[in-house]
Amino acid sequence: TKKQGSNNFTIYSKELDFKTIFKVAVEKDLKSAIENNEFELFYQPIVNLKTEQLNGMEALLRWTHPTLGVIPPDNFIPISEESGQIISIGKWVLETACRQNKEWQNAGHPPFKVCVNISTIQLKRPDFVDAVKAILHKTELAPQWLELEVTESILMENTEVVKDSLRQLKKLGISMSIDDFGTGYTSLSYLRQFAFDRVKIDRSFIEDIESDLNGKAITSSIIALAHKLNIGVIAEGIENEGQLGYLRDELCDEGQGYYFSRPMPAEKHIFPYGSKNY
Ligand code: C2E
Ligand code: CA
Ligand code: CA
Ligand code: CA
Repeated sequence: TKKQGSNNFTIYSKELDFKTIFKVAVEKDLKSAIENNEFELFYQPIVNLKTEQLNGMEALLRWTHPTLGVIPPDNFIPISEESGQIISIGKWVLETACRQNKEWQNAGHPPFKVCVNISTIQLKRPDFVDAVKAILHKTELAPQWLELEVTESILMENTEVVKDSLRQLKKLGISMSIDDFGTGYTSLSYLRQFAFDRVKIDRSFIEDIESDLNGKAITSSIIALAHKLNIGVIAEGIENEGQLGYLRDELCDEGQGYYFSRPMPAEKHIFPYGSKNY
């Protein structure tokens, strides 16, 4: 090993701050996370607010690091996007979610959609649609039971590759939703143009919806306009009866949040879901 002079050490301690060390470690350890079975998908119900029936399950990635324990996706997804590792991770997520949904169907449960978060980095790749097709083929899940969630940032990527991929996915029969809607600068008419099926209103608007007049105004106008454009609306982060009541009154179509269920491993879900059984 090399001897480190004090000068060297100073440079190191300045540049390798905690964030950098964390990032380097995460990037290195992500390399073996798939083969070491450290990833797991949790699933959170998406509920029809009128009938309280189960409309779908959102797949949410969990990583249990061998020494650091559970690392939340908000911490490692951005790092994997920067390093390109999101491509292999994203394929693992998509395949695992599709296989799980097929298993639920095979078990005889009334079918519902599995909703999978897709990074803009994935959707920008020219081979993304082929990868999705291959996974549907392999898992034998019908495309109508898959929904892809992308964030508004994809609409800034106004490239031919992205537009073409969105068209092809649509043609395959896969549905598409815009995640965290309201936090970016997209107008709803833009969503219509790209044939998105649903918008998910970001949790930050739902959080204080009972007291926050702005949150109320934003939520109500998103719902009203989306409906005029024939786009469905999902509210994220519903935690209590008050929020649910407000959203019902505004005719929001679907909801998701701790009020119904936290995200849980596949085997923890008890079927059949349905009115009040959350
Ligand atoms: P997201 O797609 O907006 O997912 C919703 C997040 O809100 C999840 O956090 C979920 O556990 C949490 N949540 C759901 N209901 C409630 C509620 O009632 N109250 C509160 N306080 N939180 C609620 P999570 O699982 O930590 O995921 C965070 C983000 O990480 C996701 O945000 C998504 O952007 C990203 N992510 C998760 N899994 C994947 C994945 O497989 N691929 C990609 N590209 N991103 C993922
Ligand atoms: Ca999502
Ligand atoms: Ca979201
Ligand atoms: Ca989010």
